[in-house]
Amino acid sequence: MGGYRVGIGYDIHRLERGFPLVLGGVPLAHDRGLKAHSDGDALAHAIGDALLGAMGLGDLGAHFPDTDPAYRSVSSLHLLERIQGLIQERGARVVNVDSTLILESPRVGPHVDEMRERLARALSLNPEQVSVKATTNERLGALGRAEGIAAMAVALVEVTGA
Ligand code: MG
Repeated sequence: MGGYRVGIGYDIHRLERGFPLVLGGVPLAHDRGLKAHSDGDALAHAIGDALLGAMGLGDLGAHFPDTDPAYRSVSSLHLLERIQGLIQERGARVVNVDSTLILESPRVGPHVDEMRERLARALSLNPEQVSVKATTNERLGALGRAEGIAAMAVALVEVTGA
């Protein structure tokens, strides 16, 4: 049945030395990066999970298992391209994505537009359809101690077809 479907996504990765920091497909200069099997792009992962959720297609881990060597250090933008393919195959289209990064540092404000552009390109969308916001955790808890970076996202898709 056609109509609109909403999905939610959340991801968190630990910040450790020796790993790159990539958020929304944008490499950021920082003393630590996100520890992960892939490139650790928590923002792209949250968005991917929101899109899969809207389509009722399970989660990122089910589609791209972290035990699969094919996904070692893979660009998470590539995973978003794959997800866009799944959406298109099912005759659906993404209406919009909204997201929030939760991190104490580095400051991502100057990079948000670039993130929106790269995420949008991977999803065959316009940057206007992909919102990226950022907030700190007010120094509270593990995120507040900058032990990691988290991201939340929602996505709306329109499903056409019978
Ligand atoms: Mg992840």
